[in-house]
Amino acid sequence: MEEPFLRIEGVSKVFGAFQAVSNVSLTVGKGEIFSLLGGSGCGKTTLLRMLAGFEEPTSGSIFLDGRDIAGVPPWERPVHMMFQSYAIFPHMTVAANVGYGLKHEEGLTKQQRAARVAEMLDLVQLTPFAHRKPHQISGGQRQRVALARALARQPKLLLLDEPLAALDKKLREHTQFELMSIQERTGVTFIVVTHDQEEAMTLSDRIAVMDKGQVKQVGTPTEIYEYPNSRFVASFIGSVNSFEARVIERTGGFLRLSVPGLGGEVVARDVAGVVEGQSVTLAVRPEKITLSKERPEAANTVQGHVKDLAYFGKDSLYRVELPGALLQVHAVNARRGDEGLRVADWYDAVWLSFDPGSAIVLVD
Ligand code: ATP
Repeated sequence: MEEPFLRIEGVSKVFGAFQAVSNVSLTVGKGEIFSLLGGSGCGKTTLLRMLAGFEEPTSGSIFLDGRDIAGVPPWERPVHMMFQSYAIFPHMTVAANVGYGLKHEEGLTKQQRAARVAEMLDLVQLTPFAHRKPHQISGGQRQRVALARALARQPKLLLLDEPLAALDKKLREHTQFELMSIQERTGVTFIVVTHDQEEAMTLSDRIAVMDKGQVKQVGTPTEIYEYPNSRFVASFIGSVNSFEARVIERTGGFLRLSVPGLGGEVVARDVAGVVEGQSVTLAVRPEKITLSKERPEAANTVQGHVKDLAYFGKDSLYRVELPGALLQVHAVNARRGDEGLRVADWYDAVWLSFDPGSAIVLVD
């Protein structure tokens, strides 16, 4: 098998008596945008710092391009880290900031350096701002200065610690697409640390979801969302309705479950490793549930009452009361008139239905 671009093998980091990173193994391919996603303190920055060489693993190995980088100092690694604060020099122009890291690059003439700076400014569309100082440009432009400076040294691996955290929401969305386009044009492998699941979902080719120093799941955004492997991942990424359940029978690629919170039985997609009689969790995403006045022809139906709804314009979130649970249902307001649904119209009774394919069984 071909050696992956980056291979992290059984890496742990202990600070005193505290285990910040616990036996992490994963691989990253060349040219991927790979995100480390998790809540505060889960160990993602520590893992990034070990890749950069600012920390050494307590145990385990890191191989970059087939080479064990243990003991290689940060400046000798083909890796660059872009900090959350950007660390831009306020007294230097945009161009000088971008060229700063090239000063000590051996074998580069002054002309070559200037050409590289011009190329980078063009890449991040800052050519017209080359002679401005950082305080004369916007937050989004400063972020691009930091990115251009990081890419100027032509690293093989760029580490980005919460790259969009300093930007407001609108700018962040726009900048996500810019980052993706710049990555595509340069082909540099990006590893992004973020606690923002939407950002990770938008940006990444693959995501590692972390909790308490451990990697809980690695996968594409779709795999992580549609096929979470644990209660933690299912509830960390997006919203989910969860119920205690018991496996009655495994049959024809499906599981028949008893789900007291839904007042009966549910057919769910099969997962490896469950046995009849086992206690599991059933998880259903709010947007996978369909609301209707009449009982639909579907494998999983249950009746409830709309308690209330929040109208967001393009969609609405319903809270539906069942005898033993309160369910969230997310519906797109595709047609005009959808937004007119009133609690009173719905209160009599509604039917909820969902596909066996959208019924996720979690054992962990
Ligand atoms: P955040 O999103 O808040 O930055 P994170 O997932 O990046 O969180 P880390 O910075 O990797 O988290 O920290 C993981 C844990 O290790 C935290 O509990 C932190 O307090 C601890 N930690 C990090 N660096 C050190 C250190 N040098 N000495 C002691 N503990 C540390």
